[in-house]
Amino acid sequence: MDSQTPRNLGPERSMTAPRYMEIPTFMRSSLITDLDAFDIAMVGIPYDGAVTNRPGARHGPREIRNASTMMRSIHPVTRINPYRLCRVGDAGDVPFTRAYEVEETLNDITRFFTQLYEADVVPLAAGGDHSVTLAILRAMIVDGPIGMVHIDAHTDTWDEFMGCKFMHGTPFRRAVEKNLIDPGRTVQIGIRGAQNKTEGWDYSLDSGMRVIFMDEFTKIGVAAVIDEIHRVIGDGRAYISFDIDVLDPAFAPGTGTPEVGGLTTIEALTLLRGLNPLNLIGADVVEVSPPYDPSGNTALVGATIMYELLCLLAEAVSRG
Ligand code: MN
Ligand code: MN
Repeated sequence: MDSQTPRNLGPERSMTAPRYMEIPTFMRSSLITDLDAFDIAMVGIPYDGAVTNRPGARHGPREIRNASTMMRSIHPVTRINPYRLCRVGDAGDVPFTRAYEVEETLNDITRFFTQLYEADVVPLAAGGDHSVTLAILRAMIVDGPIGMVHIDAHTDTWDEFMGCKFMHGTPFRRAVEKNLIDPGRTVQIGIRGAQNKTEGWDYSLDSGMRVIFMDEFTKIGVAAVIDEIHRVIGDGRAYISFDIDVLDPAFAPGTGTPEVGGLTTIEALTLLRGLNPLNLIGADVVEVSPPYDPSGNTALVGATIMYELLCLLAEAVSRG
């Protein structure tokens, strides 16, 4: 094999080769060695040093990669094939220089995603706990704040926890403070679960975010939620951050802070399928924690959500 040949199979051969074969990159895509040859990069961020409670999301990328070998290419509803629209690959995992230090780790992530941004490669990340999203946003925002579709059981807009301002309950508050996201063009979807203090809910609402609590979601339904997202986000640049704990733990138990009474998988897929044509510049799936996922189903759900996001990103990239 010459050195120019991608070590992995790439979408053409990989979709015909047996799925249990070869290195399990995301979606069996090619491993990226040259950023100039790709439009969309899937990236693993195996970090869970910023959780409030149950860890394990550091194992998310590997298990999602493994489960993603179950994914195929042509979308069952839209019939688009993201691999025909774009050059899609796996850029590997973010390397960490000081993994026991949260802020240094977030700086490593920002550095990695800055390389992608400067090469005009759109990122699709797999966490990791939700602290990583702030680091990704820092790499991508140079022309003013963007819109945010934040799908999660939690607002993640606390100020701090145990003295730390950079943990998985704070990224969207930091992102507003740093002018990375526009709270007036931010929608939070699926929020639920009792709190000991209402600080996060209050910050989101007071800053001007549109917060669709699970109670409202259930009353108005998926179609109305999609309309509301398009109304708030408009046609400016936007990012989707999908915390797997937005799903009911019946569908996705493998996560650190599960909350019952969440979305079903078909509600989540329908929601994402309604988001075209948002002007997307990136997306992530976070908080898949394989040690709490004995059946492996949460990783499969995470891989499937990644595929849906990949289709949205491929359509956005192909529109230019
Ligand atoms: Mn979250
Ligand atoms: Mn959450």
